[in-house]
Amino acid sequence: MTATVNAAELQHFSLLIDGDEVPSVSGRTYDSVDPYTASGWACVPDGTPDDIDRAVRAARAALSGPWGALTPAARGRLIWRLAELIERDADELAELEVRDGGKLLREMSGQMRSLPDYYRYYAGMADKLEGSVIPTDKPNFLVYTRHEPVGVVAAITPWNSPLLLLTWKLAAGLAAGCTFVIKPSDHTPTSSLAFAKLFAEAGFPPGVVNVVSGWGPETGAALASHPDVDKVAFTGSTETGIKVGQAAVANMTRFTLELGGKSAQIVFADADLEAAANGVIAGVFAATGQTCLAGSRLLVHEGVAEELVQRVVARAASIVLGDPRDPATEMGPVSNGPQYEKVLSHFASAREQGATIAYGGEPAELGGFFVKPTVLTDVSPQMRAVSEEVFGPVLTVSTFADEDEAVAAANSTPFGLAGSVWTKDVHRAHRVAARIHAGTVWINSYRTVAPHVPFGGMGASGIGRENGIDAVADFTETKSVWVELSGATRDPFTLG
Ligand code: NAD
Repeated sequence: MTATVNAAELQHFSLLIDGDEVPSVSGRTYDSVDPYTASGWACVPDGTPDDIDRAVRAARAALSGPWGALTPAARGRLIWRLAELIERDADELAELEVRDGGKLLREMSGQMRSLPDYYRYYAGMADKLEGSVIPTDKPNFLVYTRHEPVGVVAAITPWNSPLLLLTWKLAAGLAAGCTFVIKPSDHTPTSSLAFAKLFAEAGFPPGVVNVVSGWGPETGAALASHPDVDKVAFTGSTETGIKVGQAAVANMTRFTLELGGKSAQIVFADADLEAAANGVIAGVFAATGQTCLAGSRLLVHEGVAEELVQRVVARAASIVLGDPRDPATEMGPVSNGPQYEKVLSHFASAREQGATIAYGGEPAELGGFFVKPTVLTDVSPQMRAVSEEVFGPVLTVSTFADEDEAVAAANSTPFGLAGSVWTKDVHRAHRVAARIHAGTVWINSYRTVAPHVPFGGMGASGIGRENGIDAVADFTETKSVWVELSGATRDPFTLG
């Protein structure tokens, strides 16, 4: 399916290690594929475990060198400067993400313009990581705590929103004083490789942020299992997250996991159906459904199901598919070949398992990696499309008779990333939000995130939270310091 282009037409990218743009020690490269044209457009280093090792050593040296010696306020100023450079280069970075991932230029431009807000939010936190003086019942002791950087962080990221999801780790981690080795997705490495060059320009010492592109099972695994990494911050599938967590535990390395989802949108009979239909479309068809928080299961009260499905199907049928760079386009291609095959396999099993295809369920006429937005009705909980994360534009529709049934259906999944409640009844809205087993619930809305609001999953959707005030604590170690004040000699055989 992938066409090849003349090697001279490819854009070339380098690894970024210790402030230097370098090739892989192996000399190996691979082509990143533009999913709109289904042809290679960029030549990217295929990093090896040796490259990972070099990068980890650089990150360690920066930690115990010039970066570690900076005052927190100076760190904050550098992060602020980085935000300004991202603002300047937002269009260029968005273009790289569109080439690699096929998402809409208008969405990626918006994402790139939101990144500085994350860096500024955490820049302001760098000099506010205060310890505390703890009142103690031990006579003649002063006890205080220090929040020290956890150390070298491995950031492993997926292909759907490469720089946004990297930023969710990097901004808080830099504020805490950590250094980073980043392994971007094999499908979307170029924006991270280009972005890393901004750090030198912003004035960061070399080695604070290093990027090694390469494939998951070799390069990613080498990073997750590196014994000199202090924390692994991973975003990706639940399947890979389990492997990454196991590799980290083997070294007693801390880890956070932001994983997949199968989120429910619950629409009650009293909901504003026009708003709900719009929220359902935003939740599952925006970004071609390739978001962890996709609201891929519509649970609708039986009294309004027919009307809501009609509205959703009508809107799905009018979605404009096309060139991700065209401002009129509403849905781009599926992001890569393996993901395209996976979506097609869901269409096939939905048919085999007896679902009704209310709309879509097949490749789009545009060819390439394009598929139609798809609405499946008459589904049952056992069907693959209902139980598995598709990570594509596939909505399943189930009905419920009352609130308990709706909540039970929403929670009948091992995932717990997000969900929504659509109702005009304020009591029910908050009651149901509290009962949904998920890290984020929207009421009469869907798909909004912000630097100051924690995000993360329960159950199979992950461990830990990114964003918000508390996220920075995940990048620190708390040290308690006991100071004996009397100078007296103590009994060596009693505790305390
Ligand atoms: P993936 O798990 O295939 O890959 C994620 C990253 O892990 C990539 O960089 C990959 O190269 C690397 N990797 C693969 N195998 C590895 C291994 N053995 N050891 C270490 N690293 C390895 O996920 P993906 O297909 O890139 O992304 C889609 C998934 O990410 C979906 O499941 C989606 O829900 C999830 N996601 C979650 C969030 C969130 O915040 N919870 C956000 C976006 C995406």
